[in-house]
Amino acid sequence: MTGKITLEKKVLSENDRLAAEIRQVLNRNGVAALNLVSSPGSGKTSLLEKTIGALAGELRIGLIAGDVQTDNDAVRLVKAGARMVRPIVTGGACHLDARMVSRVLPELDLENMDLLFVENVGNLVCPSSYDLGEDMKVVVISTTEGDDKPLKYPAMFRRSSVMVINKIDLLGTSDFDMENVKANARSINAGLTIFDVSCRTGEGLESWFAWLRAFVAEKKQGMHGA
Ligand code: MG
Ligand code: ZN
Repeated sequence: MTGKITLEKKVLSENDRLAAEIRQVLNRNGVAALNLVSSPGSGKTSLLEKTIGALAGELRIGLIAGDVQTDNDAVRLVKAGARMVRPIVTGGACHLDARMVSRVLPELDLENMDLLFVENVGNLVCPSSYDLGEDMKVVVISTTEGDDKPLKYPAMFRRSSVMVINKIDLLGTSDFDMENVKANARSINAGLTIFDVSCRTGEGLESWFAWLRAFVAEKKQGMHGA
């Protein structure tokens, strides 16, 4: 048992070292970076599609799209207008790690990028342990899931800075309760910034876009101040 725990620690500290390198490169280029995490099917790709479709005219957006077996999501997001998309097909692995990201990073034109999204593999467990060099993790949850997800996967909600609640157009068709999910999430992480959206109807997306614009502007300012 001790051997296994030691090995895991070693893998994670190597990951942290690589993530710190990635973070340095992103900071040097003033690229704001968000790591999107969720269960499968909560709508990360739809959120990215809507976001990139709306903001591609004003922000230079890049994307690293992780997927277990296919590059389908990456293809969808190129169509939405992402400037530069790199798929990572993990070949079975249930999370992205910093090594995978650092391998594709040199292929991205970071000097001409404002915002980089990393779409993680759909999984609320191990992606919480792997720092990818992002500024923040954004956890996406949908109203078709249980509103106790934050309690079941506390590490993910603790390590995320933003929670996007998607599919609010479907509220009322299940027992999912908005007040419950928010109370559960805030009991884990009181500082979470929360957005209620429907990628299908577009409801709530403007506030998310406004937050992204401010986040990118802040990052640029930080770079000039440094
Ligand atoms: Mg996806
Ligand atoms: Zn995993």
